[in-house]
Amino acid sequence: MKTPPRYDDMQLFRSGITNLYLLREGDAYLLVDAGVKKKEKAFFTFLRKQNIEPADIRYIFLTHTHYDHTGALAMIREITHAGILLHASEAEYLKKGFTPAPKGTRASTKIISFLGRRVFPGYSKYEPVTADLLWEESGYRPEGFPARLMHTPGHTEGSATLIWKDRAAFVGDTLFGYEKDDCLPWFANDLQALRQSWQRLLDTPCQWFFPSHGKPVAREMLEQSYKKHFPETD
Ligand SMILES: [Zn+2]
Repeated sequence: MKTPPRYDDMQLFRSGITNLYLLREGDAYLLVDAGVKKKEKAFFTFLRKQNIEPADIRYIFLTHTHYDHTGALAMIREITHAGILLHASEAEYLKKGFTPAPKGTRASTKIISFLGRRVFPGYSKYEPVTADLLWEESGYRPEGFPARLMHTPGHTEGSATLIWKDRAAFVGDTLFGYEKDDCLPWFANDLQALRQSWQRLLDTPCQWFFPSHGKPVAREMLEQSYKKHFPETD
């Protein structure tokens, strides 16, 4: 297995089960996702240790609006005053503070999904936020950063990826990094849309894909998983 690279313009913060990535350009930062609630304090302690001023975070890019990506958003936004970048199709969920649990892609996660939808729908709630920077078309560039946004639906309708300097992709839950030989997310609402999004990721020059859960995924692993799950579409 290839060893994931370390970039000096990228830092990782673990917010419970969710990876947050902090990307630096000059003195300014862009944060990928906000993580779970009750981890806000730990996040600001992390910033202090790294000598990062909260106000230097200019943008928070949301890969999608599930609670484990948005639970800490209200407080992080209040303190940083960062602009929130969100694909327009999930703006209403964020405003309501509720995004339905996604469908499972295997037997065990289908059960979790069922419980999430029917038995504990409140689990998916979070503090509502109004995003200020809604985008729709892939190619959107956050001002001042060497990044572009790509719509990569499948896990959810508004799932999105941030491409950083054409070398790394921050993919949210479009890939999972928990397994050695498979990066299919355990949850996805639309597998056909996911297949097309995977194709779009493979069409970029990126060698590494950074998911919100688990470890970085190498291009070879994505190619292998694509063949495994979508063999008929080569
Ligand atoms: Zn999710």
